[in-house]
Amino acid sequence: MEIFLGAILFVMGTFFGSFFTLAVYRIPLKKDITHERSFCPTCNHKLGALDLVPVWSYLFLQGKCRYCGEKIRIRYFLLEILSGSVFLMMYLMLNQHGDFFTMNILEFAILFVFQYITLVLVAGIDKEYRTINSSILLFGFCCQMVYTVYLYVVRNVNIYRYIIYAILFVLVFLLNWKVSKNYLVQIMLLMSYILLAVGVIAMPFVAILSIIILGILKWLGMRKNKYQTWQQMPVGFAIGISTIVYKIVESFTLQF
Ligand SMILES: [Zn+2]
Repeated sequence: MEIFLGAILFVMGTFFGSFFTLAVYRIPLKKDITHERSFCPTCNHKLGALDLVPVWSYLFLQGKCRYCGEKIRIRYFLLEILSGSVFLMMYLMLNQHGDFFTMNILEFAILFVFQYITLVLVAGIDKEYRTINSSILLFGFCCQMVYTVYLYVVRNVNIYRYIIYAILFVLVFLLNWKVSKNYLVQIMLLMSYILLAVGVIAMPFVAILSIIILGILKWLGMRKNKYQTWQQMPVGFAIGISTIVYKIVESFTLQF
């Protein structure tokens, strides 16, 4: 039963991952993400049902488009595996704390899913287009606000710090919207979302891991002459991924 549930969650995660790659590609181009069928970006052939099964289709088609033979980027496959693993880890964490349906743990899991969606999309879009999508952060912010109201009304938690961070987020959001869409302002907006979502305690961890990720990216990009200057580095990508890693580590150390 446990293995069965774990497997279902892993598969659900891979479908999430598959959806993320599509969303990262389409959202900045303002294309529809739910109705239009996926297609191969090289030959524009609409994908069949079998081509849409995450992970398996990549392995089955040996990393190539079935219609034109063009290579499929491995990142799609990796993100599907990553999302599956994150979902599986969430399940193991819930299981480790006993009752799968205990409210606090479930609450954490629901919140984690929204934060994961927000951060993966922001990180992915930043990696592809080097811009931080403020609409997605606004979505994350709204989910976080619903959670804050819930904490206050149902759990009687002191939400003072959430209000401070929320005001900060709104101010930076207005700055980014009306005054300057500069990349630094975008990074500030991302940071204020993360402050609200994971708290100030996470900051040293996120900062150090981000620097390591940026260092690795620079090193990997050396051969391809990529990431020569700071103006090319996807800082939001590094911060987003670091925060996800922090959340996963946190989920294993939390006491419910
Ligand atoms: Zn093709």
